[in-house]
Amino acid sequence: MISSVLPTYSRAPLHFVKGEGTWLIEADGRRFLDLGSGIAVNALGHANPELVETLTQQAQNLWHVSNLYQIPQQQELADRLVDATFADTVFFTNSGTEACELAVKMARKYWYEKQQPDRVEIITFDGSFHGRSSAGIAAAGSEKMTKGFGPLLPGFVHLAWGDHDAIKAAITENTAAIMIEPVQGEGGIRPLPDHCLKGLRDLCDAHGILLILDEVQCGMGRTGKLFAHEWSGITPDIMMVAKGIGGGFPLGAVLATENAASGMTAGTHGSTYGGNPLACAVGAKVVSIIADDTFLGEVNRKAALLRQKLEGLVAAHPDVFESVRGSGMMIGLKCKAVNMDIVNAGYAAQVITVPAGDNVIRLLPPLTITDAEIGESIKRLDIAASAVAAQ
Ligand SMILES: *Cc1c(COP(=O)(O)O)cnc(C)c1O
Repeated sequence: MISSVLPTYSRAPLHFVKGEGTWLIEADGRRFLDLGSGIAVNALGHANPELVETLTQQAQNLWHVSNLYQIPQQQELADRLVDATFADTVFFTNSGTEACELAVKMARKYWYEKQQPDRVEIITFDGSFHGRSSAGIAAAGSEKMTKGFGPLLPGFVHLAWGDHDAIKAAITENTAAIMIEPVQGEGGIRPLPDHCLKGLRDLCDAHGILLILDEVQCGMGRTGKLFAHEWSGITPDIMMVAKGIGGGFPLGAVLATENAASGMTAGTHGSTYGGNPLACAVGAKVVSIIADDTFLGEVNRKAALLRQKLEGLVAAHPDVFESVRGSGMMIGLKCKAVNMDIVNAGYAAQVITVPAGDNVIRLLPPLTITDAEIGESIKRLDIAASAVAAQ
């Protein structure tokens, strides 16, 4: 008999009842170090006191009003994002894949309004992940995500990751945009080198193509800059954001330049929940904390410490791990053993990691992790690796 919850997930036998900073507490009382953050969502840790305060204050006043009315919390969050980034304008969603939907619509509408309605193709890359909506799975294109779901949204051109010549060859007069994650998350923590991102920007400029960056996982301070593309010095035309921006409250956004957003006039897009007062009050607090040089300086300092210790861990377990990769607090351990075996051994050692593609385990700790917790994480990962080596 089918379970009452649609069985689309394979779940670990863990049942958490409370979160405190970097810690998750199991129903049986065990304390787990959380290096997954609900997949880069709890960027400021669990039950962060400042966020609890903001959420409860807003909850006592107003949870939801329609976008038929003015929403000052949404205005504040949009202003903060526009101040801190390349963007001139922001639309709020509830998730990353909804941000993908709008990014695709925005790029196509842009060309439609420029009297080039055939310019609908969006170039995407192997190993990418843009969510599970029809546009999201069509954009990523992998068989794993698309098989059995009928005709896919047309117009996506899938290329190998890192094949520069293929990109040039794929551009035609119908190319509307290139969509890419600056650091692939689900695909196995693969950072795009800065010079590649610059190259993509140049290519887009040369052909008048829009550059869409998916920073749903790598954004919001995860790599040590507010957004990962800042490391390369370039800016996108359109950017997708979600995960960390709500700190655990469902919230996403599409950021865009005035030019890229010029087709999106009143009535062309909307969302019932998107940008409601509760979500945006929390989001504005999250952005105010993360978009701060002192905070990001600490993220970079701790990321360097974690990275150095992980290099030691990998060197100590050459049969289990191959290498460390990633950027800031978005780290992948490329495994020699089966990645899921290490994740499971981590559960036994009370440390949480997340599997990713390419036989990688992902570490996406809260950005607020302490030095002592980094030390304790390494101890527990060492126990897990020893257990796998002994299997
Ligand atoms: C998680 C993720 C998404 C999808 O976000 P949802 O909120 O799950 O819809 C899209 N892009 C990237 C890069 C992601 O990591």
